[in-house]
Amino acid sequence: MSARVVLITGGSRGIGAAVSRAAAEEGFRVAINYASRSEPAEKLVAEIEAAGGKAIALKGDVSRNDDVVAMFDAAEKALGPVTAVVNNAGITGKSSPLAKADPAVIRECIDINVTGAIYVAREAARRMLPRKSGIIVNLSSAASSLGSPGEYVWYAASKGAIDSLTIGLSKELAIHGIRVNAVQPGMVETEIHALSSEDAGRVERIRPMIPMQRIGKPEEIADAVMYLLGDRSSYVTGAILRVSGGR
Ligand code: NAP
Repeated sequence: MSARVVLITGGSRGIGAAVSRAAAEEGFRVAINYASRSEPAEKLVAEIEAAGGKAIALKGDVSRNDDVVAMFDAAEKALGPVTAVVNNAGITGKSSPLAKADPAVIRECIDINVTGAIYVAREAARRMLPRKSGIIVNLSSAASSLGSPGEYVWYAASKGAIDSLTIGLSKELAIHGIRVNAVQPGMVETEIHALSSEDAGRVERIRPMIPMQRIGKPEEIADAVMYLLGDRSSYVTGAILRVSGGR
């Protein structure tokens, strides 16, 4: 059997790092993309290689198509043809009601979460089509249907776009042997809340609104992604799997 190779955007921290670890444990060769913080990416590569896996770290901004193409080229050179892609890189931008939001914050969020995810999906499709096989998993958010009022409606809208991308691309690529699905996490314990939304208190504020009354762990999202990356989901495409503790 030829090697399974997965490219995970934003694979160095949070949910992406949990997916990188889980994929390596299941025998994938893992290309771990990050934007600017090289240390967590290099540490994760070392951890995976120490456990007998194969991984590389790839710096690149998903909102720049040249970076996306270079990332795929580097992954394929080092690891072999990319058989799966996890479209995970994402930011929220500083949280606020929309009327008070900085247009530059909105622009950056849409550039990364929407344009970036579409560039990555496009490049994946271009490379997977001749091989008539491949798997794409997009990271949406429960925000796409909750709307995130008062916090970041632009981020919620960006994740609505991810749902539409998943539905449309799954139908476009199904006949070519390529599956496209999404996971919609609810509130998950990562640095996105403090670093990107600059709202470290958000986790405790939201917790009582979650039916399960607890925050998700990155590994619980990675489990759903691994299901969609594996053979057990062979008849699943266009699905949007909510993993949110009931929220
Ligand atoms: P996180 O902990 O903040 O990690 C973000 C990752 O994305 C890092 O590896 C970061 O790289 C990378 N990244 C940021 N901008 C990038 C860019 N322009 N190009 C390439 N990589 C970039 O995030 P997370 O909480 O794990 O979230 C992962 C995904 O799940 C996102 O799409 C997010 O919207 C979604 N999600 C998260 C939650 C939650 O509660 N955490 C809930 C629903 C959905 P650097 O380290 O270099 O910055």
